[in-house]
Amino acid sequence: MIGFELTLEQKTLQERARRFSKEVILPVAAQHDRDGTFPVDVMEKAHQQGFFTPLVPKKYGGEGLGVLDNCVLSEELAAGCMGIYVSIFVSTLALYPIIRFGTEEQKERFLKPFCSKFSIASYCLSEVTVGSDPASMQTTAVLDGDYYLLNGTKMWITNGGYADFYLVFATTDLQKKHKGIISLIVPSKLEGIVPGEPIDKMGQRASNTTSVVFKNVKVPKENLLGGEGEGFKKAMAALDITRPMIAVGSVGIARRALELATQYAKKRIQFGVPIAQHQAVQFMLADMAKDLEAARLLVWKAAWLADQGVRNSKEAAMAKAFAADMAMRVTTDAVQIYGGAGYTKWHPVEKLMRDAKVIQIYEGTAQIMRLVIARQLLQETERTLS
Ligand SMILES: Cc1cc2nc3c(=O)[nH]c(=O)nc-3n(C[C@H](O)[C@H](O)[C@H](O)COP(=O)(O)OP(=O)(O)OC[C@H]3O[C@@H](n4cnc5c(N)ncnc54)[C@H](O)[C@@H]3O)c2cc1C
Repeated sequence: MIGFELTLEQKTLQERARRFSKEVILPVAAQHDRDGTFPVDVMEKAHQQGFFTPLVPKKYGGEGLGVLDNCVLSEELAAGCMGIYVSIFVSTLALYPIIRFGTEEQKERFLKPFCSKFSIASYCLSEVTVGSDPASMQTTAVLDGDYYLLNGTKMWITNGGYADFYLVFATTDLQKKHKGIISLIVPSKLEGIVPGEPIDKMGQRASNTTSVVFKNVKVPKENLLGGEGEGFKKAMAALDITRPMIAVGSVGIARRALELATQYAKKRIQFGVPIAQHQAVQFMLADMAKDLEAARLLVWKAAWLADQGVRNSKEAAMAKAFAADMAMRVTTDAVQIYGGAGYTKWHPVEKLMRDAKVIQIYEGTAQIMRLVIARQLLQETERTLS
């Protein structure tokens, strides 16, 4: 059965998130973009709404939502400001592996307090020399009695300067590549952790992005998530679930760009008529609308598969790649429809274009998404032919 109707609960959630986005996020989005400042008060309000802990089961104080529910919610937040949305979202990226792979004791110790009081988490995979190829990471974790001694520098860490804990991926043996990688839950109050200054970015400027140095940090061995050698699998499994949530951010950005461009096209007069009456502009709007709709459907399918417990690596990569490229095209066309005015800070469309760009880069680049899709496609074809 295929149905596109949201449930009553999903519609209520959508409405609540839309109101939050309109009343709390949108009014401060331009200012935080301009100043590159992190909106702690918005974060606190979002946490109170349960937007930081949508996937955490209710028994630990979370919302107990599914991935699709969360995508419905996230589109609304991202339509207000993608930088603010991503700051909210990254906690889910760090919490999800604990929900999925944590012991009961770890869930009690980390999920419960996170839900009950305002907290922020970060996901630390990338390094200066390690981006698309995380198996080559250089951060080390050496077991020393009851502790792992953690050493290395993580790069591009969203919420890096504000996190209460970091989910850190490190290697126990550089020779073992991905098989040597473990994941550790690292409270930020431990000695030896130094976040860098906020990185001055092109877009998503409300989000806080920093390096984080870990120098001889003593991480209790009971903070190891899953077994040794399992860290890489966990990092990748988390991305399959969270990629649709980032992809849907692209849908949110593009939806806002389309709304703004449509309104502008109806008002702006050239050659004696609103530019919306020129067919070339109509075709641009039509392409924006159809691509936006297609992206949302890919996202919903990838999210739905995740909720069914079905492996969705290919579909999540398709959703992420398509939606990110779509948002880049749609926001660029929105600037085009605004003409010269679109190329200024007078209107929000240039911000949307800058915010869209990085979605083609983080959470797996546009090229890596295509590698994931192609790899699975070739495996499937082999199975079909044999
Ligand atoms: C704003 C921002 C926030 C981020 N937040 C986080 C975070 O919270 N946590 C975290 O761990 N990381 C984070 N990242 C890092 C992000 O995930 C990486 O930037 C991304 O994985 C790409 O890595 P890279 O920048 O090192 O690029 P590289 O891997 O060096 O890639 C450079 C170019 O080469 C291409 N390329 C590389 N390998 C191949 C290949 N095999 N085939 C084809 N093309 C290839 C890439 O597609 C890209 O175009 C963030 C990055 C940014 C910019």
